[in-house]
Amino acid sequence: MRLCKARTKAGKPCPSPAMTGKRFCIMHSGRARELGRKGGLRRTVFNPDGLAELGIPTNAQDLARFVATCMDEVRTSKLAPGIANCLGQLGMVFLKAIEQVELNVIRAELESLKAKVGVKTDEV
Ligand SMILES: [Zn+2]
Repeated sequence: MRLCKARTKAGKPCPSPAMTGKRFCIMHSGRARELGRKGGLRRTVFNPDGLAELGIPTNAQDLARFVATCMDEVRTSKLAPGIANCLGQLGMVFLKAIEQVELNVIRAELESLKAKVGVKTDEV
């Protein structure tokens, strides 16, 4: 393992290993600024003031609009990806709940129709 050929700010030899086939470590390779920027973006505290005013979704159409807005906000760095991920998970639970409610409504309508035409439940 070769050590980095650069010097620290204190003037001592850099103790980090050089990248494979290179003379310098990753921090002295000129990528420090880029890596720092990436780290900074990850730690950015997102301001909710920049987010669109969205009501609480009450149906699948509302949820679709909500998700699309969140996608745009993640792409434009207005919404933290971790929060968007959480909202995505909740959205999936919401869709499953809607599905169950609709199935129960359909089941009740079916039972009502069967009762009207005189079909016993165990015959179907
Ligand atoms: Zn170095």
